[in-house]
Amino acid sequence: MSDIIQLLPDHVANQIAAGEVVQRPASVVKELLENAIDAGATNIKLLLKDAGKTLIQVIDDGKGMSATDARMSFERHATSKIQKAEDLFNLCTKGFRGEALASIAAISHVELKTKQENEELGTCLKIEGSKIVAQDFISTSKGTSMAVKNLFYNIPARRNFLKSDTVETRHIIDEFQRVALAHPTISFLLHHNNNEVYHLKGSNLRKRIVAIFGIKMNEKLVPINEQTDIVTINGFIAKPEFSKRKRGEQFFFVNDRFIKSSYLNHAVVNAFDGLLEQGSHPSYFLYLQVPTNSIDINIHPTKTEIKFDNEKALYAMLRATVKHSLGQYNVAPVLDFNRDASLDTSYHSNKNASTTSTPKIHVDPDFNPFKETTQKEISYPYRKEQNTQSWESLYTSVAISDEEKQEELFEHQQEIKTQKTFQIQRKYLMSSIKSGVVLINQTLAHQRILYEEFLESITVKEANSQQLLFPVKISFSSQEIEMIYTMKSELENAGFSFDEFTKDSVTIKGIPVSVIESKITIILEELLNDINFEVPDASFSHFDVMAKSFAKTLSIKTGTQLSVKEQEGLVHDLFSCKDPSVSPFGKATFKTLTLNEIDHLFKS
Ligand code: ADP
Ligand code: MG
Repeated sequence: MSDIIQLLPDHVANQIAAGEVVQRPASVVKELLENAIDAGATNIKLLLKDAGKTLIQVIDDGKGMSATDARMSFERHATSKIQKAEDLFNLCTKGFRGEALASIAAISHVELKTKQENEELGTCLKIEGSKIVAQDFISTSKGTSMAVKNLFYNIPARRNFLKSDTVETRHIIDEFQRVALAHPTISFLLHHNNNEVYHLKGSNLRKRIVAIFGIKMNEKLVPINEQTDIVTINGFIAKPEFSKRKRGEQFFFVNDRFIKSSYLNHAVVNAFDGLLEQGSHPSYFLYLQVPTNSIDINIHPTKTEIKFDNEKALYAMLRATVKHSLGQYNVAPVLDFNRDASLDTSYHSNKNASTTSTPKIHVDPDFNPFKETTQKEISYPYRKEQNTQSWESLYTSVAISDEEKQEELFEHQQEIKTQKTFQIQRKYLMSSIKSGVVLINQTLAHQRILYEEFLESITVKEANSQQLLFPVKISFSSQEIEMIYTMKSELENAGFSFDEFTKDSVTIKGIPVSVIESKITIILEELLNDINFEVPDASFSHFDVMAKSFAKTLSIKTGTQLSVKEQEGLVHDLFSCKDPSVSPFGKATFKTLTLNEIDHLFKS
């Protein structure tokens, strides 16, 4: 038998290797930004087209490459950063594998322009699918420009697998933020489709954090500084009252490299012990410097996880440091977030006990315990159009006994007689149906109703919009503005109308009819949150996330009292839904209890 084993041609090997290094445009961004930093750049520009699918270009003012190095840099395992295996244990550069450029060049069209400081001319190199198609001398400024076009052009399966532009942009911005936060003294510029998203001037860490996350961040930051033999810890934590309901602004950097570590995260969360509302997450930006030989970066191909020698000591140190800073900045006593401020007695007042006045009883002369609602705002607005499904056949009117006739003594006897629904603990609605009773969760039911309404308006027919008397200007970080901008047309279908987009604000002149003005900011903030953190990789449709997010934010909550009319409206609308039985998040909206089941309860 003849021999059958062959070596794979280089371009095939590179394409296979590329699969590991380059998952999406954001991976290219990370590699190119890191190369620019390793080259000693002080100004780095990132230019994107179509979420990086059409173009990712990084321009730096670093040390550049010679003509020979420019060609060499695209060879697999070609690196200037390590020479021998031992160097792996003393890394102070981001890169060291020498496979990023080879991988990227295997699956895209690359144009490299580079020049070293003292050279007259630079080099321009064009590569398509690992093949050098042109090389010229050019005049260019010192540094390197690497343009990566048409990523995955030769791997359609990979290209089709990419998510929407919003999601891919989100991943890119994540990488960009991590690199920019790790290097606050370097200037960064990010343009997407010729719009400026970030212009970060070289500064200090606090200013960099504020420049990325918005001015609101400034007052939230508590500094952290600790130096010991095994680790130096710097950075900031956000005061506990600003903790987020979604995991978001949590950054660890070890020796200027962003890392993920659930172990260290645990240490920080633990230090916040008792200070966080349940289910909320602290924000932090923590920078650990450890001796290069005490970590192993090599355990993860994309290098966001590392292994520490002194993991346990590090944990203890980090926890103690964060705890100490929380105490020092006097944030520790803020324990009860929901407490009623009027119940607070200042210690001060005890000194003037004589001036304390007797408590007065306030009587509301209009108070009527039988009034159905005390809410000023209508808590459940009726739908404009009602579907005409005969949900009412579910119901029979409640027979009124003689005893109940005595209720005529009360003002609202008319309503009590025909009332089909009751609210329990401002949380559930109960109603009698032919077969027994139905219990409805008011929040989940309303989510279902709003979800279907929004989904329809976003996808099928435009929603009615109400024009605001005075347009509202809302501040967001530039990255958030970028995201809102990419969703503009869907938001318009949902009933929003926009006036002006600036780098860090948006002016809104119209909102969906089901939205009240005071909620605009929270709705948009929640939407960004949901898009960012809830569905990063799920098969993704904007419409669906948007409708879910709005439904969640706008739904009536537990604790909202509903008038009989509102209760009936809600029940009617729920059973007019296409899928009334589950909330948009898959929870049951109602449960029924049949007469048999009720009878059973009484058998014993
Ligand atoms: P690594 O970063 O792991 O060394 P890469 O494939 O990313 O591998 O890069 C290969 C080499 O190309 C680098 O070691 C470096 O010498 C050179 N290089 C890449 N990008 C730049 C740049 N922006 N400026 C100067 N040199 C660069
Ligand atoms: Mg590299």
